[in-house]
This record gives sequence, structure tokens and C-alpha cells, in this order.
Amino acid sequence: MRNMRSYAKSIALYEKTRKHLAGGVSSNVRYASVPVPLFFARGEGARLHDVDGNVHIDYVLGNGPAILGHAPKKVIDAVAASLGEGQLFAAQNPRETELAERLCRLLPGAELVRFSTSGTEAVLMAFRLARAFTGRDKILKFEGHYHGWSDQAYISARPPLNEAGPADAPVPVAGSPGMPASVLGDVAVCAWNDLDLLEQTLERHRGQIAGVIMEPIMVNGGAIPPAPGYLEGVRALCNKHGALFICDEVITGFRVGLRGAQGKFGVTADLSIYAKAVAAGFPLAMVAGRRDIMDTLLDKGVMHGGTYNGNVQSMAAALAALDVLEAHDGAVYRDLEARGTELMQGLASLAKKHRLPILVQGMPAIFQTFFTSGAAPRNYRESAACDRDAMLALHAALQEEGVRAQQAGKWFLSTAHDKPVIEETLAAADRAMAKVARA
Ligand code: PMP
Repeated sequence: MRNMRSYAKSIALYEKTRKHLAGGVSSNVRYASVPVPLFFARGEGARLHDVDGNVHIDYVLGNGPAILGHAPKKVIDAVAASLGEGQLFAAQNPRETELAERLCRLLPGAELVRFSTSGTEAVLMAFRLARAFTGRDKILKFEGHYHGWSDQAYISARPPLNEAGPADAPVPVAGSPGMPASVLGDVAVCAWNDLDLLEQTLERHRGQIAGVIMEPIMVNGGAIPPAPGYLEGVRALCNKHGALFICDEVITGFRVGLRGAQGKFGVTADLSIYAKAVAAGFPLAMVAGRRDIMDTLLDKGVMHGGTYNGNVQSMAAALAALDVLEAHDGAVYRDLEARGTELMQGLASLAKKHRLPILVQGMPAIFQTFFTSGAAPRNYRESAACDRDAMLALHAALQEEGVRAQQAGKWFLSTAHDKPVIEETLAAADRAMAKVARA
């Protein structure tokens, strides 16, 4: 019998932290950990070391940004070299020029970019741009898609099904107390991956929808890919209805490929939001898109601000990260895909061996393990029907074996997850699944 891991120091720190830091965490997303939100002393490559001395192979990766693993040397060196230059000038610095130029060269539909600090803020910028450009007020979003925690966006991101209305005509549901009811009037909600429903919803709000926003791969609702032809269909419907197509590539950008999901599926949005992996762990987000829309920031005075936007260290981090990600003509992404595929297939065959109803679905640099005996989920309601308690039990068993995946079953990969790390992960998953199967 292996010794149980001890989390005594994390538990003690959590209790102490709660006395002064609200809820003991800096983001509500971190509340629900096993046994408490853990405290980590350091991260290195594919591994995290917690304060109790436990080592975790990390597949959470800061919820996505750490595409090059923890403390990637090239990025850290570039940031360290920039530190003595200062941080913020409330003015421009030349790294912004270089980064913007590189991003416009790289990203589908990026005629201009504008930097922000977090994905939540960049989404708000995109909403404002869409409204200013079209002269319309409403945003159409999809159930289960997460676009940050703002009043305008945190709607129907994870709605309780008893409040969400019928599947073919969902109603907008505020995600948090404290959100004014008035915001719901500016949002139309639709089930994802269903073009007929989208068309009906656009018809119902004819002439009122400024923008249609989605995660082009529905990562937050379960790493669900778009049905063949779906994104092209959305593009055409947006054109027909005069609504802007807004792709939230905060997770998929620089992760499923250098040109994100749009590059992968050959579709171009009017506005796109990128964040997370682009700066490999430093705070950076952006809106990228059509010149005529982005120009309204200047021509029409569409307001966008932010003290930390374009700060020296985030620019240095992104430039260094891009150097790595762009190197060798996409070899980084070919490797990521190969390792991810190995891990996904390995987990699926272990599930079979242990007779667990686990479905592995995803891209593969970001994928999801679901407990279901049914077909692969195609939207939020189908993914919400999977067994979350069973996934939580697997999460706990994996953590006990030194593998850290998200509680909901999401797995992010980094370039630091090499073949030996994947093999070690599969050996640990074998033990974890055996335990779950016995329980
Ligand atoms: N959009 C998507 C698709 C996201 O996954 C997230 C964060 N997980 C956000 C927006 C919000 O980004 P941030 O946490 O940087 O505000």
C-alpha cells in the first residue's frame, strides 16, 4: 500500500490565508480543489512542487497559458533582461510595434490588434467595438461558452438546467449574484453546434444583433470541436444578418496551432480575442480584427483603456514565446499534437482496461475526459449530462498518483510534456483508474 500524500501545509496555509484574503483564493475558479486549494512553491517544466513537497505532473498549466511549461527559460531570460528597462511608461514602447506587426502577419483576419491585460477585458473591448460599429446593442452567445466574468459576458456560461429554458430556445441566465437584471436584455442565447437554431435566433432578433461570440472550439464546456461546416455556416449567417462574428480564442489561440482554431478550420472572424498562451504565462490579451472595425477606436473615439496594457514585460514575454512557437515551421505544434494524441489514446485504452465509461475528446493540446457511456457531447447540455462526481473521483485519484488535471476533466498540454512525462502520466493514470474502478 502506497502512502497517502500529505497536504498538511497547504491546509494550514489555506486556513491562515482565509483570515485576510477573501475566500482564501484570488479567483473563484480556484475554490473547489481537493482537499483545499493547494499552495505551490514552484513550477518547473511539466511539474509543480507544492508546499508539502508533493510533485505534480501539471495538466492545468495555469488554465492554459503555460504552453511552454512552467518557467520556460527563453521567456524568463527575455523578461529578466527587460526588467531593468522599467515596466510602464503610460506611453508606447518599441516592443509593442514589433509584437503587433508579428501578430498581424500571423493571425487570420488580424489587420490591426489592440493589447489588453486579461481575456475578460479584451472581450469587453470586442463587445464595445461590435456595438459601436453596427449601431446595434445585442450580443448573441452560446450556452456553456465562457467569455470572462464581467456582467456583460458571464451569462449562461454554466447555467443550472432548471433555469435555462428549453434546449431549442434557451433563456439568458445571470451567472452570479450582483449582476443587474438589465444586462440580460442585451443578450440572446443559443445552443452551440446547431445552425438551424442559430438562424432562428438571429431571425427572432432581426436587425438587433451586433455580434455573435463563441469559443470556436467549445473548451470551457468540454473541449468540444465544431461540427463539420458549422463555423463556415456561422460565418455565412453573420454576413446575412449584418452581425459581426467574434471568435474568443483565449484558450485555443496559440494552443491548437500558431493560427488558432480559425487557422485550423479555415474560417476568419471579424474580431478575435487572444490571451493566455500568447505570452506563455505573463498577463496579455488582445483583440485582433478588421481594420474598419478596429479603426473606430481612433476615428469614432470608441473608448478602450488599461494602465497595464502593453507593459514591457508582457511584450518581452510574448515576443520570446512567439520565437519558440514559430520556430522550425510548426514543429512545436506537430510535437504537441503527437504527445497529446499519445496521451488521449493511452487514457482511452486504460479506461477500457478498467471498464470505466470514460470518453476522451479534444484537440489534442487541450482535451477533456468525460464519464459517459453515451455519444460524444456536442454542446453544453450534453456535456452537463456527463457524470461530474465520477470525474471528481478520478481527479482525486490522479492527484494522489501525482497527476494534476482540472477537476472538471480538462487537460492542457505543454511543450515540456515530453514522451517520458506522458509515459509516467499513463502509468499513474493506470493506478488511479484501478482505484476508481475498485471504489
Ligand atoms: N474567454 C475564454 C474562452 C476563457 O477561457 C477565459 C478564461 N478562462 C476568458 C475569456 C477570460 O480570460 P481572463 O481569465 O484572462 O479574464
